[in-house]
Amino acid sequence: KENLDKGLEKTKESVFSKLSRAVAGKSTIDDAVLDNLEEVLISSDVGVDTTLKIIDRITERVAKDKYVGTSELQKLLQEEIVGLLAENPLKVDYSLDGKGDPYVIMVVGINGVGKTTTIGKISYQLKKDGKKVVIGAADTFRAAAIEQLEAWAERADVPLVKQKTGSDPASVAFDTLSKAKNDQADVVIIDTAGRLHNNVNLMNELTKIKRVMQKVVPAAPHEILLVLDGSTGQNAFEQAKQFTKATEVNALAITKLDGTAKGGVVIGVSDQFQVPVKYIGIGEGVEDLQVFNREEFVDSLFS
Ligand code: GDP
Repeated sequence: KENLDKGLEKTKESVFSKLSRAVAGKSTIDDAVLDNLEEVLISSDVGVDTTLKIIDRITERVAKDKYVGTSELQKLLQEEIVGLLAENPLKVDYSLDGKGDPYVIMVVGINGVGKTTTIGKISYQLKKDGKKVVIGAADTFRAAAIEQLEAWAERADVPLVKQKTGSDPASVAFDTLSKAKNDQADVVIIDTAGRLHNNVNLMNELTKIKRVMQKVVPAAPHEILLVLDGSTGQNAFEQAKQFTKATEVNALAITKLDGTAKGGVVIGVSDQFQVPVKYIGIGEGVEDLQVFNREEFVDSLFS
């Protein structure tokens, strides 16, 4: 919680100070307060659609209870935001179907968003919890990607399956799942290439990886985790749009929230694309990845 508060400091300061300005000198929530609130949310990158949704709900609640004052605005706002955020459904126990199959996470996202770092942090934390993890370097496009992943695998003390640069990503994924199944691993994490220049290519590549993985683990991938850089605002929305079109993203990791005042992107992307946030990144260190808890997050934003 302390780390979370610290990680969200910039967003907090910005949202909080703007929010206080929005209600300064007012005792009741009138149209001017709501207008200001709308601006605060949009400028924190909550996104226009989600902001309007929140404003509409608050307007409705204020109309119902004419005596609600600005002192209650923050509470109303917190409740509405928690209500919008999907509950993190992925409290996995990694013992899926009694068939001895590992839980397979396929990680997608464009280069630079923090994909490798996030995979490293997840592996480290799972390993610390006593899980047996195998990582697959299926981003075979860049040599640097494989090397970076290797460094993280060493740090987390987790085996990495790789082939040489330029080899078939689906083949790496197949090898990784085979090894995991052989070793009776609990979790497999597959890195994929972060190119987005052509949606059809992206879709084909991910579909092929999935199909090949299913030869080893029929239910794979259990999770398609999209990593987004929380400091990139509207770009994160655009990437979410592309990736949710290309494949069945069912979890989000939003990184670099420590460096930005625009943490509202967590709320907007999750609401707009109806995908729950599973992890948030709040620093470069191995411990700076938190399992997302919507109440804690919203509490931290407003405290
Ligand atoms: P990839 O290209 O998507 O695999 O990105 P990397 O994992 O290599 O990360 C790119 C940069 O972002 C690195 O310098 C990371 O240390 C940094 N990074 C990743 N996650 C976070 C985070 O949550 N906070 C901060 N401040 N930096 C991060």
